[in-house]
Amino acid sequence: MDPIEQWIRRLPKAELHLHLEGTITPSTLVELSSLGDAAPITLSQAEALYSYADFTGFLQAFKAVVTELRGPAEYELAAWRMLQALAAQGVRHAEVFLSVGVIFRLRPEEDQRDPHLFARIFSALERARLRGERELGITLYWIFDAVRHFTVDEAARVFRLAAQMRRDHPSIVAIGLGGDERQTGSTPYRALYAQAAAAGLRLTNHAGETTGPEAIREALSIGSERLGHVLSAIRDPALLDELKLRQIPLELNPTSNVRTGVCPSLQHHPIRRYFDHGLLVTLNSDDPAFFGATVEDEYRLAHQHHGFTREELRTLAANSFRASFLPEAEKLRWLDQIGSCS
Ligand SMILES: [Zn+2]
Repeated sequence: MDPIEQWIRRLPKAELHLHLEGTITPSTLVELSSLGDAAPITLSQAEALYSYADFTGFLQAFKAVVTELRGPAEYELAAWRMLQALAAQGVRHAEVFLSVGVIFRLRPEEDQRDPHLFARIFSALERARLRGERELGITLYWIFDAVRHFTVDEAARVFRLAAQMRRDHPSIVAIGLGGDERQTGSTPYRALYAQAAAAGLRLTNHAGETTGPEAIREALSIGSERLGHVLSAIRDPALLDELKLRQIPLELNPTSNVRTGVCPSLQHHPIRRYFDHGLLVTLNSDDPAFFGATVEDEYRLAHQHHGFTREELRTLAANSFRASFLPEAEKLRWLDQIGSCS
């Protein structure tokens, strides 16, 4: 590793846009399969699954991975492996999307039979979170993510759960909306976002990944505080000015955007222009096991492809804590450490 890579690893970083399911690597998939499959898959079979050529292949791989997440033991293992991988990259705090909507959608009979299925899964996730804090010194918050192209009722259930469960589990800090933006925007979720905010939850949203700037405006209009991808804002100078003025935190995912084909190449990604315009930019990996780049890689790529200097990378790391949902005192502590990281 060259000196800048070593420094990037030492630099304290927060990851704010990361899907638990998307952190499951082929080797973790083999472990998960061995927990529950009569004929567990081999590493080469798992690797073949991840070497898809198109978006359909990606969706098939993602579905196969989610299917292996059968219950509490599997979720705990996946979360623990995720935390180990994050800690190894110098990530000190993560805010992770949990596809709660998918859990219910994939297992309708089990959900009917066992009203406590999700509570048991969440307890297992909390065990992994606390172990990460204890053994790896990394903190973790959960974001309950609903799928926008499912029904509004399904999202309502996810957000209601977040509001109820956060009373006993303050690690549940926020809600989010993922899924296919081309099918559904944000407006149908206006009332649900208002209710979640009233319950003390913070509001994130995927916006402008596969859609135009109007989807970003729509996401802002329902109170979204932090936005994922925001790729198409580059086409709307007035929107860029608004994002700058309000210092809306942007969770950018350059490699993800290239791999899903919504951005033709890393060089075309607007991160440099957003940063130079004074937007609150953060770097994230989205689904690192599927897109082949961790958040640490994203810092290196920003250096290599967009000429981010060491001091600019330091600003990106500082932004990641500023944009987090950590308490102010914690943020200041990390900003101090980032400032003195040499
Ligand atoms: Zn995402």
